[in-house]
Amino acid sequence: MENNTDLPAVRTNFIHELIDEDNRTGRFQGRVHTRFPPEPNGYLHIGHATSIILNSGIAKHYGGKFNLRFDDTNPAKEEQEYVDSIIEDVRWLGGEFGDRLFFASDYFQQMYDRAVELIKKGKAYVCDLTPDEVRAHRGAPGEPGRDSPHRDRSVEENLDLFERMRKGEFPDGSRTLRAKIDMAHPNLNMRDPVMYRILHAGHHRQGKKWCVYPMYDWAHGLEDSIEGVTHSICTLEFEDHRPLYDWYLDQLGVYHPQQIEFARRTLGNTITSKRKLLELVRDGHVEGWDDPRMPTVSGLRRRGYTSSSLRAFCDEVGISRVPGVSDIWVLENALRGELNRTAPRAMAVLRPLKVVLTNYPEDKTEEMEAVNNPEDASAGTRKVPFCRELFIERDDFMEVPAKKFFRMTPGQEVRLRAAYIVRCETVVKDASGVVTEVHCAYDPATRGGDTPDGRKIKGTIHWVSARHALPAKVRLYDALFSVRDPEAVPEGHDYKENLNPSSLETLERAMLEPSLKDAAPGSRFQFERLGYFFADPKDSGPGAPVFNRTVTLRDSWAKEAVKNK
Ligand code: ATP
Ligand code: MG
Repeated sequence: MENNTDLPAVRTNFIHELIDEDNRTGRFQGRVHTRFPPEPNGYLHIGHATSIILNSGIAKHYGGKFNLRFDDTNPAKEEQEYVDSIIEDVRWLGGEFGDRLFFASDYFQQMYDRAVELIKKGKAYVCDLTPDEVRAHRGAPGEPGRDSPHRDRSVEENLDLFERMRKGEFPDGSRTLRAKIDMAHPNLNMRDPVMYRILHAGHHRQGKKWCVYPMYDWAHGLEDSIEGVTHSICTLEFEDHRPLYDWYLDQLGVYHPQQIEFARRTLGNTITSKRKLLELVRDGHVEGWDDPRMPTVSGLRRRGYTSSSLRAFCDEVGISRVPGVSDIWVLENALRGELNRTAPRAMAVLRPLKVVLTNYPEDKTEEMEAVNNPEDASAGTRKVPFCRELFIERDDFMEVPAKKFFRMTPGQEVRLRAAYIVRCETVVKDASGVVTEVHCAYDPATRGGDTPDGRKIKGTIHWVSARHALPAKVRLYDALFSVRDPEAVPEGHDYKENLNPSSLETLERAMLEPSLKDAAPGSRFQFERLGYFFADPKDSGPGAPVFNRTVTLRDSWAKEAVKNK
């Protein structure tokens, strides 16, 4: 698989400034060590990509280290399929974690031992309140909570009960281990938070070994400490949890990373909640996690995005503490620039209309020379067969032309790309009046598309030889949701009502130039005048590519915006 790890020049952001300061003061002895800590309960999306690119980019920029660590502390929702897909995605995005692939579940014993240590220090206790009672005792902002009746258990009793929790003596939900902090603390996270709960559930790596599982807040800071992470970069919602992470590490007297929060990054006309993405997959609104319409990393990859374009996108939108929604066109533009330089050109007709050149010999074939990439002379040229019967795009013909229609219309000359100038003479229609064939005369003096007398030809269209064409399936995509913020729905409505009913159009028999028969699955082309297309790695067969349109050539969103004015 392609894995382009050339990073674009990293744009400076506030996180760099904080790290520069730590390096200046020698706080971490000049070490820079970041991580990406996904919970393996779904596929990664574009928001996660931001975090991976940021964290691995920082490690690279400072010559530091980057860990991939699965936060697999919740046994219920985690699956190996997710672990595998996340590893693949992080690698593809250029996140170089080397041999630093970790699982939080591998620290379960250490976490347990550290919890025992807190009990011994009188800083944690076993509580018999039910989850509902714990909640009720918690109080509210500006209103203190109430102490648990079990708060003052002796260290011995706590040690005994916690040990028996671990051995499986008690049913789920009957007891918890809680930190003993302050039930009147202004920050609700500090009101004796639960550290362990009882859960008789199998774990994807630990099997039945454990029936007490650590809560995220207890586990997370400890994981970063164990791994020697210097800068724990996370999203803003964890800002209020930072004092708790600090409290745990201070009580234990262990190494402290610096947490830095930044705002989540989301994309317009889509959603980035794993729960909702799972719902779209499960209910069949899309064809899977890697459906090319999905904002998942695997979906974007299958759509034809390159990892370098995703890095360019992240660099473009930057990092901030203000939540931001990026428009899809920003993402698309990050790719267009790259593919314009790198994608070989080809001709393909999506909605074919037959053209017959009445003055061209029946049995003749010519090889026309077409430029592979006008942006890259080293890409050379290729031969494209030309004959009497061709296909052109149905849209490129109008029997009654609109104003300024310079393409094919009766009596008007038009250039066939890299071939000849032709003039439409007559049309053939079916019983219902639909044009089924266009008859043209070609000008033999214009081979290659030049006019020897210098006469101006305003329109150039693409074509494919009918006799040589490769019929193929081509899929065109539009945004998954038809509104910019699909989750903003009135009471009683569901975000799925905003799904775009025409997000996918499948053309079963597009006609491609024959050279595309050999297109390798996973290769990219510019189909002239139509956009950038990607040979689908899953659905393409030998000699039978299936193409996904990644993006159109120009920014169709900008055009929409003008139209709607
Ligand atoms: P979701 O809310 O979709 O379930 P999550 O944040 O719970 O996502 P995690 O697996 O916990 O999913 O995320 C791993 C890392 O990715 C976290 O450090 C989180 O801060 C970061 N992350 C998640 N979503 C975004 C986003 N939209 N933008 C930037 N970073 C994100
Ligand atoms: Mg999370």
